[in-house]
Amino acid sequence: MDFNDLAELIFPDAKDISYYEEKYPVRELKEGAMVTRFAPSPTGFIHIGGLFGSIIDRKLAQQSEGVFILRIEDTDQKREIENGVSQIVNGLKDFGIIPDEGVISENEEKGNYGPYKQSERKEIYQAYAKSLIKQGLAYPCFCTPEELEEIRAKQEAAKIRPGYYGVWAKYRTLPLDEAIAKIKNGDKYIIRFKSQGREDRKIKHKDSIKGNIEFPENDQDIVIIKADGLPTYHFAHAVDDHLMRVTHVIRGDEWVSSIPLHLELFRALGFKPPKYAHTATIMKDENGSKRKISKRKDPEAAVSYYHEQGIPADAVVEYLLNIANSSFEPWRRGNPNKDISEFKLELNKMSVSGAVFDMVKLLDVSKNVISKYTAERIYEETLNWANKYDKEFAKLLENNKDYSIKVLNIERGKAKPRKDIAKWSDVKESIKYMYEEEFNKMNEYEFQKIDNKEEIKDILSSYIDNYFDISDDKDTWFNKIKDLSEEKGYAREVKEYKANPEGYKGHVGDVSTVIRVLLTTRHNTPDLYEIMQVLGKETVVNRIRKFIDN
Ligand code: GLU
Repeated sequence: MDFNDLAELIFPDAKDISYYEEKYPVRELKEGAMVTRFAPSPTGFIHIGGLFGSIIDRKLAQQSEGVFILRIEDTDQKREIENGVSQIVNGLKDFGIIPDEGVISENEEKGNYGPYKQSERKEIYQAYAKSLIKQGLAYPCFCTPEELEEIRAKQEAAKIRPGYYGVWAKYRTLPLDEAIAKIKNGDKYIIRFKSQGREDRKIKHKDSIKGNIEFPENDQDIVIIKADGLPTYHFAHAVDDHLMRVTHVIRGDEWVSSIPLHLELFRALGFKPPKYAHTATIMKDENGSKRKISKRKDPEAAVSYYHEQGIPADAVVEYLLNIANSSFEPWRRGNPNKDISEFKLELNKMSVSGAVFDMVKLLDVSKNVISKYTAERIYEETLNWANKYDKEFAKLLENNKDYSIKVLNIERGKAKPRKDIAKWSDVKESIKYMYEEEFNKMNEYEFQKIDNKEEIKDILSSYIDNYFDISDDKDTWFNKIKDLSEEKGYAREVKEYKANPEGYKGHVGDVSTVIRVLLTTRHNTPDLYEIMQVLGKETVVNRIRKFIDN
C-alpha cells in the first residue's frame, strides 16, 4: 500500500491537477500587468478596511492594464447571510468599484477563471489535496475535538507553543494501513498539511508594502480540507490565487503572520507564489490612543454608513487614497481639478504603520469634492439620498426642482465656490430657509449686534419702502444698504466706524446682518444678494412685512 491508495480512497473522483492547470492557463497580459483580487466572505458587510483594499486592487489592475477579480470566500458557511453576495457587489458599486472578473451578482459571474465562489470550487481543492496526499505532503487526521482539547491543555500546562505540529501532530505518523483501515471503518477525519518546516529556522520575505520581514518557518500541520469537504482559508488562498493567476495579493495586515505558511503551501503545491502587499490596519484615535476601527463599536467601520450619511463615494475614495499613498496629497495639490482615476497609485508609497481614520478630515475632503459639483448634480445626488433616508425632504426637492437647483447654485461655479456641504444629509439644514413651508417653521432669529425689536423694525421698513428693488445689480444693492445705514446713524464703511466708534450706532455690516437674519433666520449664510435674487421680490417683501406687522 502506498500514498496513492490513500489518496484514491479519500478522493476517488478528484481529477488530476493537470486538468486544472490547463483549464486555467497563464494569462496573456502585457508585461507588468497586475492581477488583483478582493476576496470577502459573503457577510453582506463591507468593512472600511475592505473598501480600502479593494480601491487599491481596482486601481493597480486598471493602471497596469491587468485584471481585478471579485472572489467570494464562502467556505465558512456559518457566517453567511441571505443576499450577502449582492450586498457586497452593490456596496462596491456604490464606490465605483466594478470588478473585471468574478462575481457580479448573487448568481452571476464573468470570466474564464471561475467559479469565483469558493463553495463551488470544492472539487478543485480536493484535486490539489489529493495530489498532496499522493506525495506524502498531506494526511488524514482523526482527532476528535476532545483529543485536540487534550493536546491544547497539555501544551498550556507545559507552557509550550500551542498547535498541531511535530510530536503533537498525533496522526502525522500514523501508518498508512492503519489510516486506510480507519477510513474504511467510517471514522471521521479531516485533511492536514504535512509541514516540512522547522520553527528554529527563519525565512526571509519581501512584502511589497512592509519591505523585508523575517519569520520562523511554519511547522504547523494545518487543516486544509475540513470535515464538510471544503477547504480552509489558507489552502483555498493558495489554490485560488494560483489558478486565477493572481499576481498581487493585497490584504490586511492581520494576514502577514501567515506568510511562512502560505509560502510553504505554494512551494509544496509547486506554485509560484504571488507578490504580497499587506496594508496597514485602519485605526481610530480614541482619547489619544490608537485602536483598530471596530465593527462592533464604530458605525463608520461599515461602508454602508457613508452611504446613509450621504457622503459622496468620490469623497470617501479620495480620502482613502489620501491615507493610502503619501504621494496623493501633493498630486491633488498640483491637480485640483483632475479626476481621481488619473492618479497613479504606487505600492511602495503605501503607509506602513496603522493609518488613523479622521472623520473631520474626511468631511473636509468631502466639502471640497462637493464644492466642485454642479448644482444639478448636487440636486440629483441629494434627491437620491433623500428618497432613501428623508422622504419628506425628497418631496420638497421634487416639487421645487428648478427653484432648488437655483438655491444650490448660490455661490457655486465660481473660482471660490461655497464649501458648506460635506454630505447630502447636510443639505436640508443648509438650505431649508429658502422654502416657505420650512421657513415658516423657523422662528428663532439669530439677531446679532442690533437686537432691539423696534430698531430692527425701523431699519426693515425703511429698507422695504425706500431702498429695496429686486432688479438692482449687486453694487447698487449694496450702495443702497449703505445709504440706509447712513440714514439710520450707522457708518457706511466698517473702517469709518472703527476710526470713530463713538460717532455711530454701528456699521453697514450690522445693518445688512439684520436683513440677512430676517430673511434666513441665520447670521451665517452664503451671499445675501444672491439669496435675495433667488427668493424673489415677493418672498423678500412678505418675510419682512410679516415681521414688521407682528
Ligand atoms: N476572506 C479573507 C478575508 O475576508 C480574504 C483575505 C485575503 O484577501 O486573502 O479576510
